[in-house]
Parts: sequence; C-alpha cells; structure tokens
Amino acid sequence: MTKRAYNFNAGPAALPLEVLERAQAEFVDFHNTGMSIMEMSHRGKVYEGVHNEAITRLLSLLGNPEGYKVLFLQGGASTQFAMIPMNFLSEGKVAAYVHSGSWADKAIKEAKLLGETTVLASSAADKFMTIPNLSDVVIPENAAYVHITSNETIEGTQYQTYPETGNVPLIVDMSSDILSRKLDITQFDLIYAGAQKNLGPSGVTIVIAKEELLNESPKGVPSMLRYDTHLSNNSLYNTPPAFSVYMVNEVLKWVEEQGGIEGVEANNRKKASLIYDTIDNSDGFYRGPVDLASRSIMNITFRLTSEELENKFIKESEQEGFVGLKGHRSVGGLRASIYNAVPYDSCKALTDFMVRFQKDNG
Ligand code: PMP
Repeated sequence: MTKRAYNFNAGPAALPLEVLERAQAEFVDFHNTGMSIMEMSHRGKVYEGVHNEAITRLLSLLGNPEGYKVLFLQGGASTQFAMIPMNFLSEGKVAAYVHSGSWADKAIKEAKLLGETTVLASSAADKFMTIPNLSDVVIPENAAYVHITSNETIEGTQYQTYPETGNVPLIVDMSSDILSRKLDITQFDLIYAGAQKNLGPSGVTIVIAKEELLNESPKGVPSMLRYDTHLSNNSLYNTPPAFSVYMVNEVLKWVEEQGGIEGVEANNRKKASLIYDTIDNSDGFYRGPVDLASRSIMNITFRLTSEELENKFIKESEQEGFVGLKGHRSVGGLRASIYNAVPYDSCKALTDFMVRFQKDNG
C-alpha cells in the first residue's frame, strides 16, 4: 500500500488515489501507442478522443443541460476574471459583482480595469464571514452580468442557494466547489473553475456556459482571450494542456464510480458534518468563525484560542502526517480543505487528532 499523507491542501489538492494509479499505469505507454499522452499531437485521433470524452462526460455528470458547451482554457480562474469583462462588458453596460471575500475581490479588481463595475452587495463589514444577503438586491437595468463566487476558498463560506437574475446572465466562479453537490446547471449562464481542486491537476480551466453567450465576444479582443475562438475550435485553437485534460477525464470517471455527483455530495456532507461537529462540540476550544448559514462544505476554517496554540496544532499535526491545515496567510487560523477526493478516513483521522489535541491542551 502506498503511504499517503492526510492531504488537506487548498489547491492544488488531493486527487483520488485510484486516478493517480491508473494514470501511472498508462503513463509511459498510452493505449499501446508507444508514447505517453503528453508526447502525441493534439490534432491526432487519440488525444482528440480523450478531449471529447472529457467534455461529454462532464456534461453527462451535469445532467446534459441543453444548449451548454464546455471549454478547456488556460491561465487559471484568474484569467477568467479578465476574460469575462473583456467578452461581456461593453460600452454603456455595468458589471455587477457580489463582494463575498478574497476571490470575489480579485475578480472585481480585474473588471474595474476594463469597464464600469458596481458592487451589488458586500459582506466586508462582517469580515466576509457570511455570504451577503441578496434578497433585496436590485440589479441595474444595464447590467452586463452578475458575478458571484460560489465558494470563498480562503474564508470558508459558500452559497447555499443562488440568486435569480432574470434576463441578466449569472456568472459563477466555482473554482473551489464545482461538482461537489447536485445543482440545476440551467440557473447559471456561465460557470468557470480552475481544475486543481475538484477536477484534476492545475493547468486547465473549465468553462461551462450557454452557447449563445460564448458567441458574444466583441471585436478588438485578442484571439486567445475570446470565448468564441475556443468555442468554434472545440478548445483546440492552440495546443491544449493535454495531460491536465486527460487527468480531468480520469477524475470524472472516478466521480461516476462514486455514484455521480449525488454520491460525491453525500460523502462531502458526511465529511463536513464530522469536522464541524467536532468544532461545535469542543466547548469553545475550537471555534468556527463563519456564520452557520454560510459554512462551506469544501473549506472548513477554524480557530483556536490563541495564535500560539494554533501554531502548536499545525506543528503537531504535521508530525502526525497531516498536510495543509494552516489557514491562508491573509486570514490566519486553520483550514481543512476537504474537496471531493479527500477520503472520509482522512477527515476521521483529523477529528481524532483534534479531540486528542484538545485533551492535551484544553
Ligand atoms: N477563484 C477561487 C474561488 C479560487 O479558490 C482560486 C484559487 N485558489 C481562484 C479563483 C484562482 O484560481 P487560479 O489559481 O486557477 O487562477
């Protein structure tokens, strides 16, 4: 048995062991071609087969929403922060953002460089420990789109329901919770996500969007930054990140083997409850700073009573094989990222450690 770390990294993050082993088995010789998937033309039948299979599989896992297309892009979710306004924020329109935390903040900053923006709602006053209430938000008539961040990876907050935006396209950064729970995809106009949390390794960014929206790119946007370029070339306009796309396909097969998104979601909820219950039942030794109704099932943030104790927790946890439990440098504290591929057993090992640590230090 391979010795694996209890991996709670925020991204790049744990991948399913089965996927890594399968990739290893066909690493040197992919399907009797005498070469790896990284060594062959992206215009050849073999790579194209993998590429198209990944697209079909993703759409199928999402319930084959009618009229939606999948793109495989590069530059990470961060490039989407710019591509979205470049493609959709035309003269006379305003881009409407929800300011829910660190990643929303980056998306807003980028859009501001490119056109007029407005913030519909913000939870800055609550230090982003809650998802802003959007019930009485008024979307401007000339809004090009509404942009939200489904899961704030750093703060550990997540939308439980999504806003209705009428005729205004709803664009969602799902980098840290894509495929983690069952959703009606038709409520979104465009979803994007870097692959390196729930979908595979870094290097590929997934866009799932209504085809008609992807055809809107205005003149003057460079080819590589236009959605219509990638749409009309089936994401093969230039050399794609072939190995990353191959790995995404393997991760998607694994999701199917877990019983699809429903299966993955059930496990995610069990994992999250286990850790949140340990925090909530610790008589204040551990504290979850996030508003209960906004808690993420992907990134669980928690604090101890002092920074000194937090450092001790990290140090001792590392000695016991836990990785990635230090909170993001911008907010401190602790964070357990429990993406799809993090096994329940790793979460159980973590809560056992948490209970022991409390006994020794409480
Ligand atoms: N959005 C969210 C919610 C993220 O968590 C991240 C990465 N941690 C990004 C965007 C940026 O992604 P990338 O590094 O792929 O540009």
